[in-house]
Amino acid sequence: MVLLYAERSDEELFRQAVTFARGLAGDDLHAISIGDDSAYSPDGTAAALSSAIQERSPSAVIAPGTDRGNEVLAHVAAQLDLPMAANCVSVTPGDPLALTRVRWGGSLLEEARLHGSPALLTVAPHAVAADAAGIETESIPAAEGRVQVSERVSATTAGVSLADADVVVSGGRGVGSAEGFAVIEELADLLNAAVGCSRAVTSAGWRPHTDQVGQTGTKVSPSLYIACGISGATQHMAGCKGAKKLLAINPDREASIFASADYVVIGDLHEVVPAISAEIRKTRGG
Ligand SMILES: Cc1cc2nc3c(=O)[nH]c(=O)nc-3n(C[C@H](O)[C@H](O)[C@H](O)COP(=O)(O)OP(=O)(O)OC[C@H]3O[C@@H](n4cnc5c(N)ncnc54)[C@H](O)[C@@H]3O)c2cc1C
Repeated sequence: MVLLYAERSDEELFRQAVTFARGLAGDDLHAISIGDDSAYSPDGTAAALSSAIQERSPSAVIAPGTDRGNEVLAHVAAQLDLPMAANCVSVTPGDPLALTRVRWGGSLLEEARLHGSPALLTVAPHAVAADAAGIETESIPAAEGRVQVSERVSATTAGVSLADADVVVSGGRGVGSAEGFAVIEELADLLNAAVGCSRAVTSAGWRPHTDQVGQTGTKVSPSLYIACGISGATQHMAGCKGAKKLLAINPDREASIFASADYVVIGDLHEVVPAISAEIRKTRGG
């Protein structure tokens, strides 16, 4: 029997997990949802799932590739001292299971063997089509957790959303400070663009994580991505490789972002970006 953690924060990813799990389990698939969504506790949810696993002895436990699916299964792996494979795109039954999984923000496919029973797997987003048939789900209560969600605060998104923007103006460590983003915001404003940034910037606390583009941030696919003071690390490029055109502004001729750029300006963003803004204003007669 295969156990599916019916985590439904993203219905599409949940239904993809159903397809993936059916491929492994056939009809011997059992789905369980855990606890009440309003009082989510990662370790408490995982403790309930761990107990269900110990009672039912499934051959595999599968979760959708959502943040929560990965988080809960990672807790289960720690609680039961089992290995876990995240981001799987395919699985072949056997002992050990043979897996293909996505690594490095989608730039690498890894062939792996997973030892340990039950096998703990999460499904990479969009690896398989969503299941159309639906599945009956059993509900069980969450166990008491040490960490609990006490409040939910919606992100305040002023202007265009990063994921849907047609133009993104993004700043990296080269911007130099939180205040330095004024020139990035000004250009974004003129282009009706969203502001993005690299992880160096969110780690420095200059911008919120919601602005981060990359492997562990938002994936964007605008018509134009303007990268200012960003070196072009693989993990950043994983988030912007869907852009149709990339303009990179950087004084370092050796910066790796230039290898992916359609347009290049070798220079200081604090001079180049205001000059672009001034030119746009001039053209518009403002
Ligand atoms: C597991 C993991 C996940 C990660 N996920 C992400 C992610 O989602 N997103 C992400 O961005 N990173 C991510 N990273 C971090 C990533 O590896 C890089 O460290 C990060 O992208 C670097 O950010 P940066 O380009 O702003 O900084 P740097 O690499 O320090 O580059 C700064 C650039 O600014 C240029 N510069 C300096 N001064 C100026 C100036 N005046 N004008 C113009 N340019 C200037 C420099 O020449 C340099 O090229 C991840 C790393 C790991 C290990």
